[in-house]
Amino acid sequence: MATINNNYLKLKAGYLFPEIARRVNAFAQNNPDAAIIRLGIGDVTEPLPAACRQAMIQAVEDMGQRENFKGYGPEQGYAWLREKIAAQDFQARGCEIDASEIFISDGSKCDCGNILDIFGDNNRIAVTDPVYPVYVDTNVMAGHTGDANDRGEYDGLVYLPISAENNFTAEIPSEKVDLIYLCFPNNPTGAVASREYLQAWVDYARANGSIILFDAAYEAFITDPAIPHSIFEIPGARDCAIEFRSFSKNAGFTGTRCAFTVVPKGLKGKAADGSDVELWGLWNRRQSTKFNGVSYIVQRGAEAVYSPEGQAQIKELIAFYLENARIIREELTAAGLEVHGGVNAPYVWVKTPAGLTSWDFFDKLLHVCNVVGTPGSGFGAAGEGYFRISAFNSRENVVTAMQRIRDAGLV
Ligand code: PLP
Repeated sequence: MATINNNYLKLKAGYLFPEIARRVNAFAQNNPDAAIIRLGIGDVTEPLPAACRQAMIQAVEDMGQRENFKGYGPEQGYAWLREKIAAQDFQARGCEIDASEIFISDGSKCDCGNILDIFGDNNRIAVTDPVYPVYVDTNVMAGHTGDANDRGEYDGLVYLPISAENNFTAEIPSEKVDLIYLCFPNNPTGAVASREYLQAWVDYARANGSIILFDAAYEAFITDPAIPHSIFEIPGARDCAIEFRSFSKNAGFTGTRCAFTVVPKGLKGKAADGSDVELWGLWNRRQSTKFNGVSYIVQRGAEAVYSPEGQAQIKELIAFYLENARIIREELTAAGLEVHGGVNAPYVWVKTPAGLTSWDFFDKLLHVCNVVGTPGSGFGAAGEGYFRISAFNSRENVVTAMQRIRDAGLV
């Protein structure tokens, strides 16, 4: 019989969201009249910007005419999209990123996982705790860890705890690690990283020959002009960083699917024979072999994000979610809860009151207020005692949910 990848058996299989669904369904069955409001999952709710829709409609028309029809496109993405990204997302911010260093994909989730294809199996890997679970699970699948302990921590990974004590920014490790996942603005804590903090990571990575895998999926939510949007705004980052970006959260592409990864030319890793090898060439080879590009129609939709109308429309979308986040923060603070994040990010990270565990608070919120959030412990052991509330929802739902929490007097 064919054998399987045994590493999959080490996974704490999709515990968080199925368990949330199980508890919510059980509650809904017993309380059929309860109007449950879900502020749990980080999916967007507002429709696609008109500029993107119009561009995609035009692209569908192109596909219906022999002279404009497109078959397979470049695996790296069309140059007209990559050039706009390079100019507007990077060069306009003083980052030396060329269009040839941008690889269009169908999602940052896939890219964060797929990037492991080009790295060896003996790297020491650091993740923050709590963390976006994809970084951990993809390393487990690739056989880069041992088993998990009963706190859900995998043997072999270096966990960097983040909490209110360190302002939700992990301390730079004293030991040497080879790959470091950083996510700013952060999912789940909503924290952001200052220029000085990112510079310290870049200095560490260059001194140790490490690579920073920088996830900037929520970059568009940065409102503070002092906060860098890209790791490439930091001097030296071209020598030590890869960046993941997505159209999911800035332009509502979670269902449309488009993202990109930036791999600077000249960024190197070590081969088994001790020689230095450029990662750009490996990623280019990986994508050309295992990926056939994002659809022409979707890339035209993404291109429209960079038009003046598209820029105005995504600003409005982001402002809408950030206003939700402001309402959540202010209402929860008024209700007596300790809240973090939600200023330059769509997530509000709440300290559970009265020493409740994350799941106890989840149950309380569900049963008393009929509001669903995400238990912080689902993002890692150090998330215990915290709770994530997402600003991705309608204004009406956010306002109603906050009113219920305030009226319930949970603290
Ligand atoms: N990175 C982080 C930190 C996320 O929270 C998410 C989605 O929630 C993603 C990446 C996935 O983005 P995409 O929709 O481009 O796959």
